[in-house]
Amino acid sequence: MTCRQAERTLFVSDVHLDAGAQESQRQFLDFLRTEATRADTLYILGDLFESWVGDDAGDNGPVLAALAELTGRGVACFLLHGNRDFLIGQRFCDRTGCRLLPDPVAVELGGERVLLTHGDALCTDDRAYQELRTVVRTDAWQRRFLALPLAARSLLANEARAGSRAHTARTAPTIMDVNGQAVERVLRATRARRMIHGHTHRPAVHDALIEGRPVERIVLGAWYEQGSYLLYRGGRYELHTLPR
Ligand code: MN
Repeated sequence: MTCRQAERTLFVSDVHLDAGAQESQRQFLDFLRTEATRADTLYILGDLFESWVGDDAGDNGPVLAALAELTGRGVACFLLHGNRDFLIGQRFCDRTGCRLLPDPVAVELGGERVLLTHGDALCTDDRAYQELRTVVRTDAWQRRFLALPLAARSLLANEARAGSRAHTARTAPTIMDVNGQAVERVLRATRARRMIHGHTHRPAVHDALIEGRPVERIVLGAWYEQGSYLLYRGGRYELHTLPR
C-alpha cells in the first residue's frame, strides 16, 4: 500500500530580486529548481522584485523562465503584489503561469482559513506611507505612470526608492511594523485564525488571542542576506532559513 504524500505548500516574500544582487537571484533560482519543484503550491507574498516599472520592461528574464518552468511542471504558483512590484500585470502572468491574487486574500489550507497579505497595508502607524499607497494603487495613477516612456518610469522608480530609503532611515522601527489593531481588524473581518505576511523583514511566529480564541501571525523573512521560506505540510508550518 502506498501512502498518499502530504500536501506541500511553500510561501516566500520579499525576495527583492534586483540586477545588482546576483547572489540572491542565484539562490532564488536554485530554490525554484529544487525545493519548489517538490511542492504542490508556491505562494509569493509580494516584493518578489526590488522594483517593477511595467511588464514591458524586459528585465529578469531568467526568473520569469524559471517560474514558467515551475508552473509548467504542474506546481501552482500564486502571487500577491508588494509595495515594490505592485505594477506586475497580466503579461507577467501569461509569461510565467503565475496567478495574481488580491491582497488580502483568504485561502483554505488543511481545512482552515488562512489569510495571506503582503503586510504593508497593516503598517497603519506609518501615515506618510499609507497616503502614498492610496495614491499609487489607484487605476488612474497606474494608467498615467504606465503610459510614460520606460526610461522615465525607471528614473521615477529610482527616485521613489531613494525617497523610501530616506523615509525608512528617519522613521522609528515600531512605526514601520504592523499595527496590532489593524491585524486584529482584518482577522476578525475574514474570520481567519492564521495570517501569513512579509514586508517587515522580521521573520517570526506571533501568537495572540482574539475574543479568547488563539490566532497566529507568521512573518516571512527577506532574501537580502539569506533565503527564507515557510513550508506547510502535514498540518504543520515550518519557517526555514537558507544560508548563503
Ligand atoms: Mn514590502
